[in-house]
Amino acid sequence: MIRSSKRLLPFILLLTALPGFAQKHKRPAASAPAVPSLPIKLTVDATQAPQKILHATEEISVTPGQVTLVYPKWIPGEHGPTGPITDFTGLEFFAGGKRLPWHRDLVEMYAFHLDVPQGVTTLEAKFDLVMPAPPEGFSSGASATTQLLLLSWNQVVLYWQGAKSDDVTVQAGVKFPAGWHYGTALQIDNESSGQISFKPLSLTMLVDSPALSGAHFRRIPLSPQGPIQHYIDIAADSEAALAMPQQTIDEYKNLVAETGALFGARHYLHYDFLVTLSDHTAHFGLEHHQSSDDRVAERTMIDDDMRWLAGGLLPHEMTHSWNGKYRRPAGLATPNYQDPMKGDLLWVYEGLTDYLGYILAARSGLWNKQEFLDEAAEAAAALDHTPGRSWRPLQDTADAAQLLYGAPDEFESWRRSVDYYAEGFLIWLEADTVIREQTHGQKSLNDFCHLFHGGQNTPPEVVPYTFEELVKGLNQVTPYDWTKFFRDRLDSYGPGAPLGGIINGGWKVVYDDQPSEYTKAMEKTRNQVDARFSIGLALDDKGEIRDVIMDSPSWKAGIAPGSTLLAVNGRKYTPDILREALREGKTSKTPLELLVSNGDFYKIHSLDYHGAEKYAHLVRDESKPDVLGEILKPMAK
Ligand SMILES: [Zn+2]
Repeated sequence: MIRSSKRLLPFILLLTALPGFAQKHKRPAASAPAVPSLPIKLTVDATQAPQKILHATEEISVTPGQVTLVYPKWIPGEHGPTGPITDFTGLEFFAGGKRLPWHRDLVEMYAFHLDVPQGVTTLEAKFDLVMPAPPEGFSSGASATTQLLLLSWNQVVLYWQGAKSDDVTVQAGVKFPAGWHYGTALQIDNESSGQISFKPLSLTMLVDSPALSGAHFRRIPLSPQGPIQHYIDIAADSEAALAMPQQTIDEYKNLVAETGALFGARHYLHYDFLVTLSDHTAHFGLEHHQSSDDRVAERTMIDDDMRWLAGGLLPHEMTHSWNGKYRRPAGLATPNYQDPMKGDLLWVYEGLTDYLGYILAARSGLWNKQEFLDEAAEAAAALDHTPGRSWRPLQDTADAAQLLYGAPDEFESWRRSVDYYAEGFLIWLEADTVIREQTHGQKSLNDFCHLFHGGQNTPPEVVPYTFEELVKGLNQVTPYDWTKFFRDRLDSYGPGAPLGGIINGGWKVVYDDQPSEYTKAMEKTRNQVDARFSIGLALDDKGEIRDVIMDSPSWKAGIAPGSTLLAVNGRKYTPDILREALREGKTSKTPLELLVSNGDFYKIHSLDYHGAEKYAHLVRDESKPDVLGEILKPMAK
């Protein structure tokens, strides 16, 4: 998964024969009651999606007596208890046409208890999902507009408490608004009068296969000749937004080829990127085995700046099909959606994916080399200006993932955020350079990916791993003290970010007064103003101060995160006025005066700062070979 707003800023092959989803290694046993063998019959009426409500009916087999049904809580790829239980409404149960009362568990809010009368073997449930959500959050954030809908099945299903999702078969169907088209990794059983029925499959695979539908829809084939088909399915709020240029389409075709070259095998039967283009849905990416839910702003594919800033998203989410879905940390390979997840290996799940996603974006041409360097410089510089690393080791950012995804921007540099993404990028870059150094260029992290994530082509399956198995895999590529390598970086309270990969790669982080193209594009498209590396302020074009870096000039002058910058040296704040004041301050002896409102109070803060604007870049260290350049070269023929 990836948050786009972050960064200061998951044949004819009868699917019932695809419990293939079963894992090669056993997952922890759930204390499970016997699961009735009859499939759950789930029908979703999405025709009122523009009015922000979905209706569903479910037939579920039961045995008479006390029955507990549960609503999915821990959502794969979101690494937290993010199922939208507050939006699960209109719940009614019927047995033989008679209404049955239910009550919610007093401790587990996602569980519903019923007393099923003798002789009853099937319940009918009716419920709604209301979708008033603001455009924040992940799949529980806004998912419908008047023009489109991303349907996440976990939001419209109940299942037996204690059941393993692999063991639950669901026969699902949906009806979208008239005239809307749709895309999904699900296999269609039949379709008539707008009512779509999918082939029966496990609850695991249903939840793993969202459906994207919309009035403005485009399906782009990426691998028409290959035995494994890849598509980009796009739903947008306008017809104009669908016009992805041919060059970009060709780069996504390259991405398919590059993932094949990197991993050597695929663990899906076909793959669909489900791309939502809207300014009124949540913006993020969520991985699945055979698809990804990729939501970006409406004009992303037709605006050059927005397109390149989003260029890492699809490579990241697709990489998860191997790293995160197929190979999954043991603590995240839970048997159902109620058992808590453990995020201690998210620096592999997300960190390695960040690294591979970035280099795949470059190898496929979605980013040129400079664009990759700008992204890397941003990650390195931001982490190097994170004072919170003095109290919170990187490991704890992973352990506390379900807390940090929802944490506010204020005090982010002290609290730390989900740093296992960007810092994972740096650490895996360094691991790549270590392998190359140890083997005199004969091997690289590419070989590890082939070994650890590749093998034979398979349908979706989960192969869990532990830290020890990860280390073993790396040692098979090249013997090294990998345990020490990772533990040093995961458990340290060091002042600076791990920059060894950049240094070994033949580059260094420098700061000057010229913003990179990345910084310019971020400021332009996301209304941000980046003064973190100069006076320690991250703010927006309206003056809202999102964070103040502790120990920076702004912090020392008493400015609080969450306050508002109103004026600079006596003149009303605009981003240009602030930048000019920073430039002029270089040759001035007078302090920089910032008028800031904090709640109802106004105060002028004086900063004795004369260091001009400061922005991060990567520049070549000519004393070393350009290993980074080697890493970015395309692998596919
Ligand atoms: Zn991710």
